[in-house]
Amino acid sequence: MQILIISLDHSCNNHCRFCSQADLAPPSAPPDIRARLEKARGEGANVVHFVGGEPTLHDALPSWIAAAKHLGFERIGLQTNGRRLAYPSYARTLAAEGLGPVDIALQGATGALHDYHTNAPGSFKQTISGLKRAHEASLEVAVTTVITRSNMRHLPDLGAAMGVLKVANWRMRMSLLVGRAREDGSRLVPRWSMVEPYVRRALDETAKNACTAVVSGLPLCIDPSLPRYDPASDEAPQGVYGHACEDCAARAACAGFDAGYLTLYGERDLRPMKEGRPEMRGGPDFSDPLKLPFVGGLGRTVADQPVPSD
Ligand code: SF4
Repeated sequence: MQILIISLDHSCNNHCRFCSQADLAPPSAPPDIRARLEKARGEGANVVHFVGGEPTLHDALPSWIAAAKHLGFERIGLQTNGRRLAYPSYARTLAAEGLGPVDIALQGATGALHDYHTNAPGSFKQTISGLKRAHEASLEVAVTTVITRSNMRHLPDLGAAMGVLKVANWRMRMSLLVGRAREDGSRLVPRWSMVEPYVRRALDETAKNACTAVVSGLPLCIDPSLPRYDPASDEAPQGVYGHACEDCAARAACAGFDAGYLTLYGERDLRPMKEGRPEMRGGPDFSDPLKLPFVGGLGRTVADQPVPSD
């Protein structure tokens, strides 16, 4: 079983402060998507994720989803800022063509916080509306939040909001020192030790509702019991390790971390472990791509690469 990740161009109607694609070449028209779907399907892929940029800016997206469905892909996912889903007929169209999971980017529980991160006034209102329309269209809604110094203290509020918004799966992803984040890295990327207590409190909030929450991009030694989801990406296919990691008993189970983090904060927060990885408290099992609620990798994804699921 394989997941095909189709990375469309990186055009977007948000202008996020942490955007990992801001330093990439200007957008170009995506090549023949149908041919890529056909080829990957012939090679055994049965799950496809459309990621961007912002995939919904492409008017052909519904027809690509329909083509994937026609070719026999069993699960078709979309990573999106959710703004275009605010148009009810659009959300319904995507669902009718065969879309399953939508992974919506939400950076705060208020307009002020979300719009600060997106640099797009009004984006919060549209994204929340899109999330609701996605529910109404019977799409599977997940949310991804990029953890920054500005929103980490508000993660518990967001955790509570997941219950109000009836979101079943929420991913908190550490910001990386790539793309636009390089412009002001230490103001944007928080230290792991600062993030840790807020992630725990956010998990306490989601535990009150039927929401499964996970964290991505946080090294295993930062509270090893936190539920994690760390798929590979072309930014950090396997992560990097510090000198302190050499003696860590959990290294084999650890995905490592963002190389840029070391340039900001060094190894101060690393806590080499004396024993291997403990069991995650209530950790979800995302080993089946046909049930995976999240779409795409950690940031920039490997375009047109079927990713073996096991
Ligand atoms: S100290 Fe261990 S758990 Fe922490 S990043 Fe290094 S290898 Fe991973």
